[in-house]
Amino acid sequence: MPKVLIPTPLRQFTGKQDAVQVSGSTVGEVLQNLTSQFPDLRKQVFTDEGKLRSFVNVYLNDEDIRYLNKDASAAKDGDTISLVPSIAGGSTLAAPPPETSSEALSKDEILRYSRHLIIPEVGVEGQQKLKASKVLLVGAGGLGAPLGLYLAAAGVGRIGMVDFDVVDFTNLQRQVIHATADVGRKKLDSAAEKMQAINPHLKIVKHEVALSSENALEILKDYDLVVDGTDNFPTRYLVNDACVLLHKPNVYGSIFRFEGQATVFAYEGGPCYRCLYPEPPPPGLVPSCAEGGVLGILPGTIGLIQATETVKLILGIGEPLVGRLLLYDALGMRFRELKLRKNPGCPACGQHPTITKLIDYHQFCGVPQPSAAAAQQEAPVNEGEIEVTDVKAMMDRGDSFLLLDVREPHEYQICNIPGSKLIPLGEVPGRLAELDKNADIVIHCKSGMRSAKACGILKQAGFAHVRNMKGGILAWSDRVDPTVPKY
Ligand SMILES: [Zn+2]
Repeated sequence: MPKVLIPTPLRQFTGKQDAVQVSGSTVGEVLQNLTSQFPDLRKQVFTDEGKLRSFVNVYLNDEDIRYLNKDASAAKDGDTISLVPSIAGGSTLAAPPPETSSEALSKDEILRYSRHLIIPEVGVEGQQKLKASKVLLVGAGGLGAPLGLYLAAAGVGRIGMVDFDVVDFTNLQRQVIHATADVGRKKLDSAAEKMQAINPHLKIVKHEVALSSENALEILKDYDLVVDGTDNFPTRYLVNDACVLLHKPNVYGSIFRFEGQATVFAYEGGPCYRCLYPEPPPPGLVPSCAEGGVLGILPGTIGLIQATETVKLILGIGEPLVGRLLLYDALGMRFRELKLRKNPGCPACGQHPTITKLIDYHQFCGVPQPSAAAAQQEAPVNEGEIEVTDVKAMMDRGDSFLLLDVREPHEYQICNIPGSKLIPLGEVPGRLAELDKNADIVIHCKSGMRSAKACGILKQAGFAHVRNMKGGILAWSDRVDPTVPKY
């Protein structure tokens, strides 16, 4: 029987299994059989009309079925079928020599870079190219940390960084460019200081803004290539489209829990992010690192693959990671490679592109603007929501109600509100019978997103009194009980 590999974000729908043996003689049959076995997965992977959703790609061994026989592609014993959804995300081309700008090296620099200079593929000429190069890092977080440190050390002459965040305690587990004493500082200042300490020859340009449709082209145009270290879909599509419009290579990496992806998009003749994923996943399906977690070392591995590709592209050596999606599974310690093709019908880089200027990416991805979300925190409670302080008052009065926690068991172990009942969001539809339809139910999660979904599920199932605890257990820790740890 063919084997179907299930990626982490979809395992919640397959009883946590990472691979399932499924019968069927074509890919379509296998997927039908798989999703009859796991009906919740069907809703995620197929539209109501039975069409495969466009944020999921299906590979038969290393080939995208869109370029085989689609659903009718024959599948046999021993074949591996992979579902590859976009995460928060061929033809091998020889690298052409880049523009031959170069800058002379000083005596200090010759000593500093001596281990590069004695590699024939780099040499003085290559090191001068690195010195003349201009690289933009989008994000000074998990991926940006190893990228910033190593690209600075390697002698890239000018590094721009886009970030507007400050260092948080929860960053330190992976963002090794920031130290404990940097908590509360601007990430740009903290990162620039470390990079400058490693290499005083480096010129750092700080762009302390949120990259947007209004400023992206203006910022990107001055760089030779762009390295995407973002953690959200709106910025990913924005970086992709801006790189396609400006003809700049986009060195892509993305991470989730124990898995990573890397490739180079928008490189002459190669595919772009939209060739792979024309549309983003529905909001909330693919959790961010903040919601889903990430192994602290993982961004190091993926960031350094991006750094390697960046240096190769600048030097014009080797085989760039173009037309190939590298998948890394840290738990299995396996790298796999899938072929990526340029889609002639791609809305960004196809023959008749429909994206000829930057669009509203928050709207495109169905997520509210960060500023709007922040404003909402101040806004009065919406219908169906309840403040943490009001929940506390209900408890103190001894009101009869059920506090339902829809986080995962491992989150419940970190902290919980005494008296709450735990049913993880994924199990809610199957466990409705445990709940009283007429009871007063308050639902909470970490920050309020998952509990909002759970409220929707319960209301649809006919529950009469359901409210979402605004801000989740984080707000509870802030405003009711500071002894509850935040994570
Ligand atoms: Zn494309």
